[in-house]
Amino acid sequence: MQVTETQTMKETVQAAWGKKPLIISGPCSAETEEQVLATAQGLAAIGQVDMLRAGIWKPRTKPGMFEGIGAKGLPWLQQAKKLTGLPTTVEVATGKQVEDALTFDVDVLWIGARTTVNPFSVQEVADALRGVEIPVLIKNPINPDLELWSGAVERVARAGIKQIGLIHRGFSSYGNTEYRNAPMWHLAIEMKRRNPGMIIINDPSHICGRRDILMETAQKAINLDFDGLMIESHIDPDNAWSDAKQQVTPEKLGEMLRSIIWRREDVNSEEFHAALEKLRQQINHLDDELMQILSQRMKIAEKIGEYKKNNDITILQTNRWNAILERAFKQGEKIGLSKEFITKYFDAVHMESINHQNKIMNS
Ligand code: PEP
Ligand code: MN
Repeated sequence: MQVTETQTMKETVQAAWGKKPLIISGPCSAETEEQVLATAQGLAAIGQVDMLRAGIWKPRTKPGMFEGIGAKGLPWLQQAKKLTGLPTTVEVATGKQVEDALTFDVDVLWIGARTTVNPFSVQEVADALRGVEIPVLIKNPINPDLELWSGAVERVARAGIKQIGLIHRGFSSYGNTEYRNAPMWHLAIEMKRRNPGMIIINDPSHICGRRDILMETAQKAINLDFDGLMIESHIDPDNAWSDAKQQVTPEKLGEMLRSIIWRREDVNSEEFHAALEKLRQQINHLDDELMQILSQRMKIAEKIGEYKKNNDITILQTNRWNAILERAFKQGEKIGLSKEFITKYFDAVHMESINHQNKIMNS
């Protein structure tokens, strides 16, 4: 590429990085030159996509599955960029892959979930990035471990990469669930809180693993103030060589993006702020009361602890615990609290109560 062309592409990348929402789309895997070019052109035509993604090296669960076309696919991405003006992004997992991607002018690199999980691999990628100026996106590790995710960010930052972004793609678990990878939104929210100023986008494709709940998941991410979305698209999704069930056509993606309600973090309206402030005060007030009540509850638990201690009784009384839960589920249903929430809440209260009683028992 000529200097001026490179310069303009750098500006395009910077503009995309700073845009909210940043939309990245493209096939799970680059399969053939025709498929990459047709998908890229379809995406360019819908006008809302900022970057073209394609997997070149695919970390697959089992050997014998399609493991990516390899470096041979990189010129196809170059060609797609030339045709559409879209910057490109690929997943890298080794030093050699970083080198190859840079040779073929890939504009943004991303580290996949199966790599983030392995500090040796992340370090190898980070070492290959030393002295290079390129934005890097880091997916969450497959297991729900924020320290591992933060560690990967730190390794890449220490290699001198200035522009780092996060991708939330959900966490794997054993057994069938509604999702391919459980979103565990609270972990992404916590990561966002820990890294103010770092962009975080959501990848509903790998969270859902299927098309029918893609839209509601993307909307949820936008409601939670994510900075953008990475969604897999393919000209012929059903016949894709990887992740066929979750990919959508560029046209379908266009429809989705048009029907998402894009939310702002803030609005310049005094009336809105006054109303919000009033409601927030009510929330603060209720939270204070809840804490007071919980503290009272713990004091009663301590008294029970004294009785149990004096009578050599165990802390945990399974029957009583089951009765409490049953009661709470029934009550919760009536007043609009989900069983899931009741379970988590009572687990936490119960654990705290046990800890208070344990202190009494051991005193
Ligand atoms: C992908 O983006 O195609 C991919 C392999 O994703 P993940 O790393 O989230 O599994
Ligand atoms: Mn995929």
